Amino acid sequence: MIIAIDGPAAAGKGTLARRLAEKFNFAYLDTGALYRAVALTLIKGGVDPSNEPAAEKASKALDHALLSDPELRLEDTGKAASVVASMLGVRSNLMDFQKNFGVNPPSNKSGAVLDGRDIGTVICPAADVKFFVTASAEERAKRRVAEMRSRGVNANFEEILADVKARDERDMGRKDAPLEKAADAHLLDTTDLAIDAVFLRAAAIVENCLKPQ
Ligand code: C5P
Repeated sequence: MIIAIDGPAAAGKGTLARRLAEKFNFAYLDTGALYRAVALTLIKGGVDPSNEPAAEKASKALDHALLSDPELRLEDTGKAASVVASMLGVRSNLMDFQKNFGVNPPSNKSGAVLDGRDIGTVICPAADVKFFVTASAEERAKRRVAEMRSRGVNANFEEILADVKARDERDMGRKDAPLEKAADAHLLDTTDLAIDAVFLRAAAIVENCLKPQ
């Protein structure tokens, strides 16, 4: 079984994906981490993220050790990730790995959960269950600020809100694989819904799909 979860930054899709993978004992792939790893290669090398040949090269021979680098989660890495993610060559270099993860999940798991921006539309268009997780930009910025402050990082709401909106614009406005809801995806708006409620709703949909028809 393949579960595809898409949505904008900080909507709660990562938490939902992890919890679903744990409940159903499926493999989990955070596809945003791949784009972040490409961006981090450039940042660490002092290369501008808009340098397309360098980004293509980094995505072709992706350094998987970077996937567990703490710098992967920094705001600047996320911002740079959305820049390299708009490059056709980068997206196509990362495509096979993602598709293969869905079809042949590691450790012989019976299913895979992938989250990102184009999972239900491009990577796994035939996924068994699709979710589109979203929330208002203000709510997402609020969550990000709270999360940063809990790590002791100084965060300004207006600045984070502007970043969230800029990232949305880049992700939705790009030509190749823009962020959009697949027609057959279940919409989960988490603006006024706690993550537990979102999880219960999504898990019920997956359980229903696992039942013999
Ligand atoms: O999900 P996360 O915020 O870690 O993703 C970082 C960036 O990677 C996103 O803003 C987006 O531009 C890009 N991305 C993408 N397609 C995916 C996953 C992430 O374009 N499937």
